[in-house]
Amino acid sequence: MMDNVGTISSPAIVCHGGAGHSAKDQPGVDAAVEAGWNILQSGGTALDAALASVVIMEDDPALNAGTGGRIRSDGSLQLDAAVMTSNGQYGAITCIQQTKNPILVAAKLLDEKVNILAGRGAREFADSIGIDREDVEGSLKPTGNDTVGAVVRDETGLIVAASSTGGCTAMPAGRIGDVPLIGAGLWCDERVGIAATGIGEQITLKMSSVRIADRVAEGHDLEEVLKWGINQYPSDVEVGFIALASEGVGFGLANTKMPWASKG
Ligand code: ASP
Repeated sequence: MMDNVGTISSPAIVCHGGAGHSAKDQPGVDAAVEAGWNILQSGGTALDAALASVVIMEDDPALNAGTGGRIRSDGSLQLDAAVMTSNGQYGAITCIQQTKNPILVAAKLLDEKVNILAGRGAREFADSIGIDREDVEGSLKPTGNDTVGAVVRDETGLIVAASSTGGCTAMPAGRIGDVPLIGAGLWCDERVGIAATGIGEQITLKMSSVRIADRVAEGHDLEEVLKWGINQYPSDVEVGFIALASEGVGFGLANTKMPWASKG
C-alpha cells in the first residue's frame, strides 16, 4: 500500500445527510461540516474531524442515524456505523441498541483485532470501553431511509470515511445494510474515501464504494466516477455518494435530493 501520510496536504471535508432527504435537512449537514472543518483548522486529525461531524448528525433528530434512526419492524432501534482510514484501518458495528452515538463505538474498533461486531457483542464492547447504555428513541417517521456520512482529509494526507445509519424504514430486526460492510457502504485508501447512502441491499450487491475507488485508481476524474457510480442503478433505486480524493475538494451526488456540503 502507498503511504502518503506524513506529507503536507490541504485539509478538506465533505458530509451528507442521506439520499432522499431534502433541503430542509441541510442545516444539520452544514453544522457537521463546520465542526469538522474547525477541528482540521486547528490541526486536528481527519479521524477527530470525521467523528465530530458524524456525532453532530447522529444527534440531529431530522437525520436517520443515532437519535433520528428509523425504527425496525418489531419496534426496536438497531443502529449501524463504520469508519475506515487511508492507512488501512477499519471498524464497524451493526444492529447495536441503546447507543446514542454508534460511530464512537465503531471508531474504537479501529485499533482492535476484531473489526466488526454485531448486536449484543457490539453493545458489550461499548460497555467495556465506558460508553454508557442510553434509551435512544429513534424516528417514527413512516417513510425514508438514509444515512449520514463524512469523508475528511487532514494536513498529513490521512483520509477517513465514516458512516452511521438507522437503516431503511421498517426493516426486520437483525437486518444488515451496506453501511457496516467494507467496500459496499464505504471505502478508504490512499487515493480516495467514499461513503454511500441509499438502498443498502442494492449497494451491497454492487460493492459500489470499492468499485468507485478502483476507477479513481485507474485515473478517472472523481466527479465523473461518481456519475458512473450513480448510473449503475435504475432510477427507482435511491442511491447517493460523497467522495474526497487525495487532493482537491469533496463532492456529493445522488439520484434523489441529498443534503451535502464540503469545505477545503
Ligand atoms: N444505506 C442505508 C441502509 O440501507 C440506508 C440509506 O442510506 O438510505 O441501511
